[in-house]
Amino acid sequence: TAGKLFVIAAPSGAGKTSLVHELRRRDPNLRMCVSHTTRPRRPNEVDGRDYHFVDVPQFETMIAADGFLEHARVFDHYYGTSRAALADAYARGHDVILEIDVQGAAQVLERVSDCLFVLLEPPSAEVQAERLRGRGDPPEQAERRIEVAQAELAEGRRLGAICIVNDDLERTVAEVAALIAERRS
Ligand code: 5GP
Repeated sequence: TAGKLFVIAAPSGAGKTSLVHELRRRDPNLRMCVSHTTRPRRPNEVDGRDYHFVDVPQFETMIAADGFLEHARVFDHYYGTSRAALADAYARGHDVILEIDVQGAAQVLERVSDCLFVLLEPPSAEVQAERLRGRGDPPEQAERRIEVAQAELAEGRRLGAICIVNDDLERTVAEVAALIAERRS
C-alpha cells in the first residue's frame, strides 16, 4: 500500500525549511520529494538536493507529459512535484512530506484523498522579512513575497488547512509531529 502524504504549505519566510528538516531528523521514514523549479539556484543550494533546477522548456515538457502531481507558477518561476519523485518514495516504503505553496496544495487536495494539510504562518511580517532578506534574494523580490504571503495565508485557510503560527520552532515541530502520528494511527 502507498505511504501517507503530508503537505506543509507556507509563504516563503515562514520557516518551513527548518520545520521539515527537524521533522525528518526525528522521523527517518519521512521523505521529501525534491521539487523541480525554473528559479535560478541560490549560492548555497545544490541541484538535486534542494531542487532539480531546470529551464522553462524542460519544465513545460514535463507538464505536457503529465509528469507533475502538482505544479504552480510562484512569483516568476515554475515549481512542481513530479509524479516520479513521489512514486519513488512510496516504492521505498516511505511517507512523504511535501513543502509546497498554497496553489500546489490545492491541487494535491483535489487529487489525493486523506492527505494532511498544514499551513505554517510566519509569526509576523517583520520576522518573515528578516528571513527573506537574510538569504540573498534581491530586496524588491523579498518585498513582493511579503505582500503575496497575506493572500496565500487567506487562501490556505479557505481550503481548510490546519494553521500553525511558527513562533517557536520546537513547539511547531511537536504540533506537526503529533498531527502526523495521528494520521498514521
Ligand atoms: P523558494 O523559491 O523560496 O525556494 O520557494 C518559493 C515558494 O515555492 C515556496 O512557497 C515553496 O513552498 C514553493 N514551492 C517549492 N517547491 C514547490 C513545488 O514543488 N510545488 C509548489 N506548488 N510550490 C513549491
